[in-house]
Amino acid sequence: MTALKDRLNDAALLKTESFIAGSWHGGSGGGMDVTNPANRQVLATIPDAGEAGARQAVAAAADAFKTWKKTSVFERAKILRRWHDLITENADDLATLITAEMGKPFKEARGEVLYGASFITVSAEEAMRLHGETLHVPTPGARGWTIHQPVGVVGCITPWNFPSAMIARKCAPAMAAGCTVVVKPAPETPLTALAMAELASRAGIPAGVFNVVCGDAEPIGKVLTGSDDVAMIGFTGSTEVGRILMRQAADTIKRVALELGGNAPFIVMDDADLDAAADGIVASRFRAAGQTCVSANRIIAHAPIADALEAALKARIEKLKVGDGFADGTAIGPLIHDEAVARVDALVRDAEKGGARVLTGGRSLADELGGAFYAPTLVAGGTPELEIFSSEIFGPVASVYRAESEDEILRLANDTPYGLAGYVYTRDVGRVHRMSEGLDYGMVGVNAAMVGSPMTPFGGMKQSGIGREGGKWGVEEFTELKFVLVGGIDQ
Ligand code: NAP
Repeated sequence: MTALKDRLNDAALLKTESFIAGSWHGGSGGGMDVTNPANRQVLATIPDAGEAGARQAVAAAADAFKTWKKTSVFERAKILRRWHDLITENADDLATLITAEMGKPFKEARGEVLYGASFITVSAEEAMRLHGETLHVPTPGARGWTIHQPVGVVGCITPWNFPSAMIARKCAPAMAAGCTVVVKPAPETPLTALAMAELASRAGIPAGVFNVVCGDAEPIGKVLTGSDDVAMIGFTGSTEVGRILMRQAADTIKRVALELGGNAPFIVMDDADLDAAADGIVASRFRAAGQTCVSANRIIAHAPIADALEAALKARIEKLKVGDGFADGTAIGPLIHDEAVARVDALVRDAEKGGARVLTGGRSLADELGGAFYAPTLVAGGTPELEIFSSEIFGPVASVYRAESEDEILRLANDTPYGLAGYVYTRDVGRVHRMSEGLDYGMVGVNAAMVGSPMTPFGGMKQSGIGREGGKWGVEEFTELKFVLVGGIDQ
C-alpha cells in the first residue's frame, strides 16, 4: 500500500498538528487516528489540541482581528487570491488527501477543491464591493449612513463530506470581510484542513487570522460557543448538532450561520425530459456516494412516467463502478466508515419490510472489497411512513415514490422539517412557476441537478439552517450593519 506522503507531489502538505497563531501545535490529549475508509489503513494520528488549544486559538484570532480588520480590503483580497492560487496549484495534492481520508473518487475530490477555491476569489471580489448607503434622517442638519463592519472572531465547525469546500465557503468570506477564524474540522478529515492551513501560511495570511484546532468536538465546541471573544459560529453539519450549538451560543447571544441537513425531493413530472431527469438524479444522488446535504433523497415520480423513470434509473445505476477512489473509473467510493454502511443497510432493510422493492443493489460490499463500501441501490414503491422517506440516507441509495397530481407531489415534497434543496423536472412553464414557488426549500433546481455555485446564495429554510453562503450574501453574513447618525452639521 502506498504511504500517503509518497502520493503527494509536496510531502510538506501532510501536516498532523493543529495550526494556531501561525505555528504547529501538538496537544496534551491523546491522538485521533485518521483512517482511509477504502481499506481501513491508518493514515495519521492527530494530537487532540483540546480546550487549551481552542482557547489559545481564540486568543490568537482575537489579537489578529485588531490588525486584520484594519488591513485594507485590497490587501486582504490580494492575500486571499494568493491562497486561492496556491490551492489550485496544489489541487492534486489536496484531492489526494480528500480521497485518502474520506474516500470520494479522486476526480470528484479535485472538483471539490476547485469549487471551494472559487469561493475565495468571489469572496475577495465581493468584499471590495461591500458598501453602505447614505440615508435621510428626520433631524435638520443631521446626516445618516450605514457601514458594514466585520463581526469579529468566527468559530467555524465543519463536516467530513466536503473537507476543503466547507472550510473555504465559510473562511474565505469571513476573512475577506475582515474577520479572523478558528476552524474545528471533522475528525475524519483533518488532513485536508491542515494542508489548507499550510497553504494559508505560505500565502501570507497573517498569524492568528486562520487557525485550525483538531480534537474532541465537545470541549472545543464549548470554548467556541461560550467565549465572549468569539462573535459568531459558522457551522455545517447535521441539524441535531446545529441545534446543540445554537443552544450553547444562546448564552452569549452569538450570531449563528447554520448549514444543516437536507431531505431533498427530486420531482419528475410527466412532461419532463426523462433522460435528462435520470442523468440528473444519478449525478445528484450518487455524488460522494450519496453523502451530500443536497442529494436527491426522495425521488417523487409523477405516476404516468414512474415505470419508465425506474427503468432508466436502474440501467444507469447498474453501470456505476464501485471501488477505491484512486482507481481508474471509480464512480462510487466507500462511505465514511463501517457504521455508515450498517446504517444505510438498515434503512434499506426497513424499507423492504415496509413493502418497498429493491430493484438493484441493496447490500454491503464491505467484505468483498475490504472497506466501507455499499452497492449502488434503487428502492421503489416506498411510502411516506418509511424511515427512508424521512431521514437523510447519506449513502448510494435512490428511493422512488409515486404520486398522481401536482398538489399531492408538492404536499409530499414539503412533508419534512428540512428545507435545503429541492429539484423539479418539467417543461411546462406554468409548473415551473407553481412548483418552484411552492417548494419550501432555500434552493430549487428546475431541470438542473446541481444548485451550488460561488456566486449564488446557498442555504436552507426550516430546520436546514439559517443564513446563506456564496456571493455577496456570503460576505454580508460575516458583517454587522452599523448605522451612523451625525448631527450638528451646519446646513
Ligand atoms: P455532524 O455530526 O453534525 O458533525 C459536523 C461537525 O460538528 C464535525 O466537525 C463534528 O465533530 C462537530 N460536532 C459534533 N458535535 C459537536 C459539538 N457538541 N460541539 C462542537 N462540534 C461538534 O455532521 P457530519 O456527520 O460531519 O456531516 C454530515 C451532516 O452535515 C449531514 O447532516 C449533512 O446534510 C450536513 N451537511 C450540510 C451541508 C449544508 O451546506 N447544508 C453541507 C455538508 C453537510 P465530531 O465528528 O468530532 O463530533
